[in-house]
Amino acid sequence: MKFFDKINEIRRKISEVENNIYSGKQDYLEIYERNLQLEQEIAERTHELNVANRRMLTLQHIWEMMNSAKPLINVLETIVNSIQGELGYLHCTIMRKLLDENNLPYLSVVAEAKDATIDRANKILNRSIQSRKLAYTEGSIFDETIITRKIIQSKDIAATLKAIMPEIEQEKVDEILSDKEVKSIITIPLYSRDTAFGVFCVFSSREELAQAETDFLSMFAGQIEMAITIADLFEAVKQQAVTDGLTGLYNRRYFEEYLAKEVTRSKRSGQPFSIIGIDLDFLKQINDKYGHAFGDIAIKAVADVLKSNARSIDTAARMGGEEFNIILPGISSEGAMTAAERIRKTIEEKPLDTIGHVTASIGVATFLEHSDNIEEVLELTDQAMYESKRNGRNRVTMAKNVSETSWQEIAVNTFTDILSKHNMPIPQELSDDLCRKLKENQSQKDVLYTVADILTLTYNPLHEKGVIKSKLLTAVSLAKRFDLPKEEIDKLKIAILLYDIGNLMLPKEILQKATPLTAEEIDHIKEHPLIAAKEILQPISYIQDIIPIIEHHHENWDGSGYPANIKHEEIPLTSQIILIVDSYFALTEQRPYRNKLSPKDALIEIKKDSGKKWNETLVNEFITLIEHDLN
Ligand code: GH3
Ligand code: MG
Repeated sequence: MKFFDKINEIRRKISEVENNIYSGKQDYLEIYERNLQLEQEIAERTHELNVANRRMLTLQHIWEMMNSAKPLINVLETIVNSIQGELGYLHCTIMRKLLDENNLPYLSVVAEAKDATIDRANKILNRSIQSRKLAYTEGSIFDETIITRKIIQSKDIAATLKAIMPEIEQEKVDEILSDKEVKSIITIPLYSRDTAFGVFCVFSSREELAQAETDFLSMFAGQIEMAITIADLFEAVKQQAVTDGLTGLYNRRYFEEYLAKEVTRSKRSGQPFSIIGIDLDFLKQINDKYGHAFGDIAIKAVADVLKSNARSIDTAARMGGEEFNIILPGISSEGAMTAAERIRKTIEEKPLDTIGHVTASIGVATFLEHSDNIEEVLELTDQAMYESKRNGRNRVTMAKNVSETSWQEIAVNTFTDILSKHNMPIPQELSDDLCRKLKENQSQKDVLYTVADILTLTYNPLHEKGVIKSKLLTAVSLAKRFDLPKEEIDKLKIAILLYDIGNLMLPKEILQKATPLTAEEIDHIKEHPLIAAKEILQPISYIQDIIPIIEHHHENWDGSGYPANIKHEEIPLTSQIILIVDSYFALTEQRPYRNKLSPKDALIEIKKDSGKKWNETLVNEFITLIEHDLN
């Protein structure tokens, strides 16, 4: 009995232990499961925190950009690139709604994320969307977004593409859509101070659009709107400013306003006023040697001299960069020369820390004395200032009367200014030599032809010396047949010497290629010389009225030319004269890819383009002229 009792007792104990173990296991399992849940929750929360943190950092970054007075475009670019990374969109862009010259709306891409999606699309379209004016189609998702001021999502990618590019071919649309990555396009309205700015647009790889995402996009749109508003306000404030931040002198805007008043006053009273134009010498060298901050110090130092030397009624302004002008009311050229000389001396005398002595070149012109046209007076001031530069800098030059400045002088000065700027791709010795030639023979026209011939020879070894002179004489004879006034003919003469100067900037391999050019090379040739010529000539203030003649010397009568595709009377007659003269001489000159034509055959070719490149009157006059010379 005792034995069984014992066994029972043991059994009971075992089952007790078993029970204990079982309930312990239950507890353990419960805890384990709870822990698992907690861990999962922690992971989720951490992820959310990370996301929120990243968004915060992005916003903070944007805020910093907005406070850094960076140009609006940079801020917007940062925004599109951040949001793209942030929410993993395939593409982000900000488009502005603008009106064209006919008051019709269009969209212009102001900021665009750089990513594989847009690269691919651009490649298919064979150009950059950014460089394009995009269409604003009524009833499109863009239109609707702006009108309703609501976020809209569209899964019809093809329709969206066609809305901004109606001209796009279906096969290109198909090709763009073929990778199927973009599932929807979301457009968010952008308003600044209650006027429509445009649309913020993202390409999403998801079909759905959750509330959280909409909220987030709205928040970003808010940031974009704020950046735009701040930039607008900044611009408005800047517009109202009359002084220059660096020097405290008046700015260009104020100068121009004041000048207009002074002109009225001067005309009424018959009293002259003078303008002193000042340009700091060798600022580029100062910048290069000591850094921009020291360049700024030099600019400030000159400004201080101007302030301390000016009478209370004089107006000293910083026109931009290192250029200053002073208006001296009631002062004749003689008085202005004295004032200018005093300024020059004061600038030169006082050495600056680290930089040492700085100097300035000065030009003086007087309203009612040199000219009663204010534009001309400003141009003359500039010309006089450049003459100071040419003659060795650190000096004062008085303007010449307009009638005294011959076309030759302008041409000599232009070549000298171009050559001495040292950014032309020709050897230094050559430009020095040509400058010396120009200086020593400035009264002889032939030096101009020689210089132009030598420059042409650097890129065209087949160029025949003397051709430029012949071109000029032919062009002038032709212009006279059209009774062009002397001033126009003078401009034409200068333009003839300069119109191909942009070729100096072209790769020699293209210019001297013996085999036919590729389409790309032709485009390069077509666009580059004009752009280059403009770039080279634009900084030269006194030939501004000659630039358009050069710019349009490849426009055709029927509008098929370049760069502006203008036609008929829209083209300056002087440009048409250059075109026909240039074509004729090109045909009669040897080229790497063809033999030269006889004058007779060249005229036959010229006649073929009658009504196309030039009108019939011009061709007839030209043929009569050449045939007359041939006989
Ligand atoms: P030159 O004697 O022929 O006038 O030579 P330059 O070097 O003064 O003239 P150039 O026109 O070749 O170069 C002007 C330089 O001035 C180029 C530009 O970077 C610099 N510059 C323009 N504005 C500022 C400015 O606000 N601060 C500084 N530090 N440099 C400026
Ligand atoms: Mg300078």
